[in-house]
Amino acid sequence: MAGTKRCTACSKELGARVVRCPECHERLIPMHRGEGRTLLGACAALARELNVDPSLVRVAFMVTLAVSGGTALLVYLLLCGFTPAVEGGTAPLQRLVNWLARVGNAPADEMPRYERRV
Ligand SMILES: [Zn+2]
Repeated sequence: MAGTKRCTACSKELGARVVRCPECHERLIPMHRGEGRTLLGACAALARELNVDPSLVRVAFMVTLAVSGGTALLVYLLLCGFTPAVEGGTAPLQRLVNWLARVGNAPADEMPRYERRV
């Protein structure tokens, strides 16, 4: 049974690495930057999502970067921030939000201590 899985929505038998069910378009693997990365893996994740060759996305990104100045880089970094580094992982921005929530709700004895100068 290795190498196959079933679609969670329509129970169709599919390959293990299929990102989206071809029948009902149910997402089977969440977007992540895990495999085939060159820098931070955003282009590879986008290529997997769009089902195109990663080098095609990288060339398109480089052209966009040359034309747009800093905007493409900002989009790249935002994409990295919203995409988990591994399959089933937590996105960096989500980790930051979780950390801030923990700090905000921590009991007084778990709060980071700062020296108080008056
Ligand atoms: Zn399906």
